[in-house]
Amino acid sequence: MKVGFVYDPIYLQHDTGQHVENPRRLEAIISHLEQTGLKQQLTLIKPRAASIEELSLVHPEQYISHIQDAAQKGGGWLDADTVMSPNSYEAAIYAAGGIIKATEAVMDGEVGSAFALVRPPGHHATSQRAMGFCLFNNVAIATKYALAKYKLERITIIDFDVHHGNATHYTFYDNPQVLYISTHEYPFYPGTGSIEETGSGEAEGATVNIPLPAGCGDAEYLQVFEQIIVPAVRRFKPQLILVSAGYDLHWADELALMQVSTTGFAQMVNTIKGLADELCGGRLVFTLEGGYNLTALATSVKATFDVLLGNTSIDDPLGQAPPRFKAPDIAHLVKSIKEIHNLP
Ligand SMILES: [Zn+2]
Repeated sequence: MKVGFVYDPIYLQHDTGQHVENPRRLEAIISHLEQTGLKQQLTLIKPRAASIEELSLVHPEQYISHIQDAAQKGGGWLDADTVMSPNSYEAAIYAAGGIIKATEAVMDGEVGSAFALVRPPGHHATSQRAMGFCLFNNVAIATKYALAKYKLERITIIDFDVHHGNATHYTFYDNPQVLYISTHEYPFYPGTGSIEETGSGEAEGATVNIPLPAGCGDAEYLQVFEQIIVPAVRRFKPQLILVSAGYDLHWADELALMQVSTTGFAQMVNTIKGLADELCGGRLVFTLEGGYNLTALATSVKATFDVLLGNTSIDDPLGQAPPRFKAPDIAHLVKSIKEIHNLP
């Protein structure tokens, strides 16, 4: 099956200056995909702007106007981490529209799976507040869009960014149609995502938080995927899987303290692809969240595409993490989460 990617130069026009979340991230990814010849194996999906109606699936119109006004006034800082430029609103509505287009391409069978290479990222943008480099919650908008347009009953979102996707978590906290699973360093920004936060009302159990201690590497992530994520997703039986793909858990990334390698990302993506193939006809949509070391980001995104394409050889030029941490023992944590969620 074809693998699609969403990209457009509009995403470079969200100009954040010297910020870690800057246009060079996407430039590094695209140039690496070109240099390695991988881009030719992919199908380009052109994004469009999300409509106000689509953005309103998650954000009130007052907030959407506030972001549009801020851009028209030249941009500036929205909180201590989040900055806008004059073209940021346009980039942001194309980011949300990009994952919508990726989702449509997968649901309509034009491609088997797709990755939206967009910015600004989305998983920290709450319904009424920009935060953590995010303006609109792209993955949440696409999820609500897919539930409505394709009349789906169950979507799983797997968020492996090193930060907890607080905004996605709260958007679907009381929605039994969405299983939200997040692995994240904890305690860490933004502070939410404890194991006790499991969803509310009818959605009790449909939020699975996997807060991990600093220092986790490929082995610990694989353990979490095999013992928690696989049985939780199998039980839920999603019709579509969306992935908030952040690469800031790579060992070379300076924003956090995890030890995952590019090979580790390939293993995680392979597990997710296996679940999509087994449970939902392969329907799988990735969207870019974090990842700030340009080499780690570019090689790990390429590895993600390699797995989606079924390429067996994974290039990992940075290799494994240097031995700066003793690997944490997460057996007790894994056991507790399995108990809380009644997982086999
Ligand atoms: Zn992150």
